[in-house]
Amino acid sequence: MLKEIKILSDHGKQFISDLRTQPVSARFRGRPVISSGITTEEIEKACAICPVDAIDRRNGSIDLGRCSFCNECALLMPDAIRFTNDYRIAANRREDLTVMPGQTAAMRLEETAVRKDIRRLFRRSLKLRQVSAGGDNSCEMELSASGNVNFDLGRYGVEFVASPRHADGIVITGPVTENMSEALEICYEAVPSPKVIILVGTDAISGSLFEGSPAVKRGFIESHQVDLYVPGNPAHPLTFINGIMDMLGL
Ligand code: SF4
Repeated sequence: MLKEIKILSDHGKQFISDLRTQPVSARFRGRPVISSGITTEEIEKACAICPVDAIDRRNGSIDLGRCSFCNECALLMPDAIRFTNDYRIAANRREDLTVMPGQTAAMRLEETAVRKDIRRLFRRSLKLRQVSAGGDNSCEMELSASGNVNFDLGRYGVEFVASPRHADGIVITGPVTENMSEALEICYEAVPSPKVIILVGTDAISGSLFEGSPAVKRGFIESHQVDLYVPGNPAHPLTFINGIMDMLGL
């Protein structure tokens, strides 16, 4: 018995009591800040090094739906671009994932764009079916972590379920490969209405490195309304959890 108590004591407190303000490592790359004084020459250099065309040549903005958070642009020009460790970067409108030069404000969901039936029906219980549509298991692992003893997303009644018939929505990871496109449609159709669509990770949001590949077929994403975009490569559990909490109005 004493041995067990000592083990518990050594583990310390693992449960994160406040998922909104939990500090993370300073090295974590979350919301970028781009200098308002970034020059045309610096933008050109950043565009040249960016592997996924996430930087807009016209104004130097960064699209977090495309960014792989590789940090190369910030390493090249630390005075012009830096990544903060702010993990609250989810959005419910695709255009809100673009960070402009000089923008320092926190990123939050657009309240008027949250579907009313989501909060009315799912605020106290949201069951989700995860579909890995060509994912590399990185975002999938982070999603699994969101339910572990540390993050405990289940405290809000949000859980992953085994069958789409028991789910209120789907969480898509991966760029949506051709082999998974039909399975994704079938899974979505099996979820009772009204239903939620959440994209997790840069691959799901834009295709990222795989954009334009003949092995990718993104018709589903383009033809459905998405309720929540969760950027990251992979997305951090706190980014996913805070996005869900904002969407549900918790
Ligand atoms: S951190 Fe993002 S914007 Fe910068 S080079 Fe990498 S992918 Fe491009």
